[in-house]
Amino acid sequence: MSNSPFQFEQVGIIHSCYRQKFGIPRQPGIVTAAESELEFLPPYNQENLIRGLEGFSHIWVHFIFHQTMDEGWRPTIRPPRLDGKKRMGVFATRSTHRPNPIGLSVVKLKGIESGNGKLILKLAEADLLDGTPVIDVKPYLPYADALPEAKGGFAPLPSVMAEVEFSEQAMDKCLAYESKTGRTLITLIRQVLGQDPRPAYLRESTHRRHGSALWDVNVVWESRGDHFLVMDLEPYSGTDRY
Ligand code: SAM
Repeated sequence: MSNSPFQFEQVGIIHSCYRQKFGIPRQPGIVTAAESELEFLPPYNQENLIRGLEGFSHIWVHFIFHQTMDEGWRPTIRPPRLDGKKRMGVFATRSTHRPNPIGLSVVKLKGIESGNGKLILKLAEADLLDGTPVIDVKPYLPYADALPEAKGGFAPLPSVMAEVEFSEQAMDKCLAYESKTGRTLITLIRQVLGQDPRPAYLRESTHRRHGSALWDVNVVWESRGDHFLVMDLEPYSGTDRY
């Protein structure tokens, strides 16, 4: 049934600290240490297409859930916010498995870089996988988009952050990584693990080992009751980058 009159162009691509889906927060704004870039692709890499955008602190990014789109869509979903215990309709959730696999995130615009044919938006706080295709960018308008009186349904507030501890070995490797790259890896790990990225069915397990790929490291961690322990950092050279 593909006689649809709609066709969308990819205007850009995301380069992000999140190299795998596991660990990405469920919404933007939760992991404030997350850094990413939106690179415009030709012919959209022209500065006049973003003229005026520098005055906005936040933008809306419309993107494709490219890594899950082949799995199709589901009419109902068990939202992680309900511990996977209840089903909600796809249009009442922000699930990735939608009839049209389009995502929408409001993210912080930290800066704009251009030169040598490249046009890049420097972003923070996004919930986007490395390699995500972007189909549109719009400025965030506080007077129209910020609605403090709005009701949050079954997801009124973000979850409370859990404590994250580091083994001596992991902390040494983090400090070395930070001084080599200038990236704030320790805060990133604290925020990523602190929001408990485990699917609901694994939340009861303790001492189970997990790995989360951030930048070019695999963070090896375990849950320890009410907190998480970072055991080690390993090099990550994932092949699932794009
Ligand atoms: N803020 C967006 C929205 O509301 O449309 C995305 C919400 S969705 C619940 C967030 C999750 O999407 C992340 O936790 C991550 O697992 C997943 N995700 C991010 N980028 C993706 C991509 N390119 N393909 C598939 N899944 C992606």
